[in-house]
Parts: sequence; C-alpha cells; structure tokens
Amino acid sequence: MQTKIIKPADNAHDFPLLIKSLLSGMRFQPDNEIVYSDVIRYDYRTLYKRICKLANVLTEAGVKAGDTVAVMDWDSHRYLESYFAVPMIGAVLHHVNIRLSVDQIGYTMGHAEDNLVLLHDDFTVIAEQLADQLPSVRGYIRLSDDQLPSPTNLNTVGEYETLLAAASDEYDFPDFDENSIATLFYTTGTTGNPKGVYFSHRQLVLHTLNGASTLGSFDGQPLLRSDDVYMPMTPMFHVHAWGVPYIATMLGVKQVYSGRYDPNKLLRLYREEGVTFSHGVPTVLQMILNCDETEATDMSGWKLLTGGSAATPALAQQMVDQGILLFTAYGMSETCPLVSAIFLKPSERELELSDQIPLRIKAGVPIGLVDLKIVDPEGNDVAHDGDAVGEIVVRSPWLTQGYYKEEAKGEELWENGWLHTGDVASIDKDYVIQIKDRIKDVIKTGGEWISSLELENLISQYPAVSEVAVVGVPDEKWGERPYALVVPMAGEELDSAAIQQHLQQYVESGHINKWAVPRDIKVVADIPKTSVGKINKKVIRTQV
Ligand code: AMP
Repeated sequence: MQTKIIKPADNAHDFPLLIKSLLSGMRFQPDNEIVYSDVIRYDYRTLYKRICKLANVLTEAGVKAGDTVAVMDWDSHRYLESYFAVPMIGAVLHHVNIRLSVDQIGYTMGHAEDNLVLLHDDFTVIAEQLADQLPSVRGYIRLSDDQLPSPTNLNTVGEYETLLAAASDEYDFPDFDENSIATLFYTTGTTGNPKGVYFSHRQLVLHTLNGASTLGSFDGQPLLRSDDVYMPMTPMFHVHAWGVPYIATMLGVKQVYSGRYDPNKLLRLYREEGVTFSHGVPTVLQMILNCDETEATDMSGWKLLTGGSAATPALAQQMVDQGILLFTAYGMSETCPLVSAIFLKPSERELELSDQIPLRIKAGVPIGLVDLKIVDPEGNDVAHDGDAVGEIVVRSPWLTQGYYKEEAKGEELWENGWLHTGDVASIDKDYVIQIKDRIKDVIKTGGEWISSLELENLISQYPAVSEVAVVGVPDEKWGERPYALVVPMAGEELDSAAIQQHLQQYVESGHINKWAVPRDIKVVADIPKTSVGKINKKVIRTQV
C-alpha cells in the first residue's frame, strides 16, 4: 500500500517512549504522598529525588545499560523507586518472584543473569543459599526495615537508605531506543522451568497510557483518577502489580505500599490512609473479607479491581454486602497484563448492585489498542455470539514478544502471529468476554467437556461454601472425572452429599450434565495456592 510519508525536518526530534516520561504526576500533584507501611512517607518531589539518588547508587555500583538488576522485596517505596530508576538508566529490572521455591528462584536469577540484587532482609537466607550458583551477580544492596540489616557474608554494596542518603539527588537520564527491554519476570507453567517474559520501555509506556484511560476515563469504569488513593494487593513482583504503580505515578496519585501482605494490616492501612482503589486476585480479596479487622472496617465505596482468576458470584456478593464496588479485568503475565476490563452500560449501572454481579465478574471488553478474538484448535475464527467457545488469542503493542532465551516456546506462544492465551472463552455481540476455563483445566469426561470454572461457580452458590476448587482426575472408565475441594465458611460445617444434592437442580434444569456432579467432594481447611495466591490446580491434581 502506498501511504503518504513525509520526511521529517533534519533537526526534528524523534521522541522515544521511555519510562522516564511517566513521571508527570509530580508536576500536577507534588504534595501527594508515597507511603510505605508505618516506616516512611514522602511527597512526589522527594520521590523524584530518590529515583535520581537510586540511579546514582546503581551507577556507582557499576550497573551499566543492558545489565540486569534483580529486586527481592515486598511491596515498598523502594520497589516503586526501582520501577523507575533501573530502567531509566537503561538496565533491565528483574522482578524476582520471591514466593517461588528456592530452586526456582535460583533458576530464574541464573537464567536472567542478574548482575546486582536489591535484597530485603527476609530473603538473605535464600540469597546466601544461592550465591555460589549465581556467578553473574556482582553484589547485593541490602533492604532493611530495621536500623541495621542482618549480618551476612554476601558481597554487600551497602544498605539502601544509607547509600541513598549519601548520593546526589540529580541525574541526567539519557534518551535511548524505546525498544530497549525495561523489565523481565518469570511465569510458572504447568510443566518445566519458569519462563521469562519481557517488556520494553515503549510497551510499558503504551500500557500505562492505555491503562490510565481505561481505568479513569469511562463512566462505566471510574476506578483510578488523580484524587484517588491507591494501595495494591497484587504483589509488585507479579506483572508490575498489573502496571498500576506506573499509572498512579503518572497521575500523581497518593500511593500506599504495605510490605508483606497481611490482611489485617492491609485493612488498617486502608482505613488510616483513606485508600479508595485497590486490586487483587480473588483469593486475596477473600482474605480481606474474612480477617479480624473486617468487622471494624467500613469498606463502602472501596473500588476493587479483581482478575487473575475468576471471582465466584458468592465472593462478589460478599463484597457487595460490604459496599465494595467490584470491577474485573483480564490478562496474563505474557500480556503485561491488561487486555480487557468490564464496562457497564448506563442501563446496567442503574441495576441494584446485587443484580450487577453477573455483569461485574465477567472478563470485560477488550480495551483500546487490543485486538482479541476466539479461535478453534485449527485456528479458525469462532463466532462472537455468546455461546460458541474458543481459545482467546490477542494482538496488542504491549505483549511479550517471546519467552526470554526460549525461542521455540516463543514461537509456540505466537502461533500464526497471534498470542495464544490458553484460555477458553465465549464473546457476546457486545464484545463481552466470558472465560470458561484454562484449556488445561477443562475436564474431559465420557466424551463431554466440563468447565471446572462453571462447576466452581455452581458449588460456590451453596451456602457456607467459602472457597472451592474443581479439577479433573484420571478415571479408567470416563477418561477424567471432576473432583472438588471445598472450604467451609468460618464456624460452618459442610456436607458433601448436600452439595451434590444442590448440584442436582442444575442437572435437572439442563445447565450441566449428570457427569459434572463430582463423586468426590472433599471438605478441607484450605486449598493449595500458587506463588501469587491463585488456586494451584497443578498441586491439587498431584495430591489427588
Ligand atoms: P498469570 O499469568 O499468572 O497472571 O495468569 C493469567 C491467567 O489468569 C489467565 O490466562 C487466565 O486463565 C486467568 N485470568 C486472568 N484474569 C481472569 C479473569 N478476569 N477471569 C478468569 N480468569 C482470569
């Protein structure tokens, strides 16, 4: 195609999309604060100075453009500072998933070839165990919430706050290619080693701009605006806390970081700091609703974005009962993550909140700059009629372009030029996505396909069920059969036969077939979770 391209003036500036340009919030709201638990609070002017100081400390420690700096920390102001300082000097920020096993952490740090590690005291023992197998690591900067970090033999550059105090608060951040990699982190699949996904400055800038418009501009999604107070409940190591710290900083929003997640502490900070917007996976939200501080906390008006797995109607109802405004988004590590978010039409917003639940827990509508469709196993498009199901495939400017140093796996992810999510869904005529299951979690029994998510939804509607997980387990006769774990609500008892009885009504109405009623429903005290707090079906299947 012959489009019109005009040669730019020789001296025209070709503005690169770099993370440093996202620091505009301090120009609008310089007095707003960054709060780290009960430890420290400072304003946006100080945030900028501290980012410059950290950049000087890193440079002084020998970090050069193209090096990799790992962070092992809970949610903190330090983590926020590294979100900016590390990529702004041209280095790659490796978000270490500190919830993985020691072996897996070692694998990811070795694979990423980390050069410098920002290391919180809580992970010193792990780092000491791994030090011998990480030849690329040249040194450690100690992060401590106490006066003095614990003693160690690790090659320590110094303590974070002490180093920052001594560093200059000016730094001339250079321009460079916007396609330079800014961040790297690992996602754990069902088999094999964790896989590295990576994002460039350009991708993160576009994700941030689009995230801001998605979360703030539409009347059906009024989640995050400049006067909000933000506190994440998705760890900062997990997909950049869904990218929201970048959005919040661009808008100059007051930000609250809680350290290690403890539901009571999160609720106390919510009350004391006036938090208005948070996000988290359903299991974390569940913890918030069932902790000691729940009763003492007025949660009305708290805007909570969930995603990462499906919220059950029962959980959503609990939130509505607390006055929480629940929203859902969909995405994955490979997608940076935002791909879709719920948007309520004016007529839907007029419904009672309880009646909005089925709408609010769907996966939403593809956001701007996202092409999304469902396809069958041969790659043919599947109708967007709300009934037909297929695998979600996506295109957008901010998707990982492969798996780090794993070419073949990257090709597989991008089969036919679309990123394959591994999620089965339907899409209705209003573009609303309804996730049915992960492809690998669908239960194949007697030639029928049963959605484990659908079954979880139906079981969760039985009174006194607090949490539920359904997996397929091998069965000689049927290939697979469903197997459920249920956790009773505090002080309640559950009886498997009664839950099976409850499911009969859906068999009779034709909603599910009789094979979908699990023969085994085990009442347990808790359900295995992944490193980021989602239900761990891999472990459940192994246990069964
Ligand atoms: P992760 O890469 O760990 O962030 O996990 C991404 C996966 O979480 C997706 O592929 C989906 O299976 C699941 N997921 C994310 N958002 C939703 C949602 N809104 N509803 C249901 N499942 C979701």
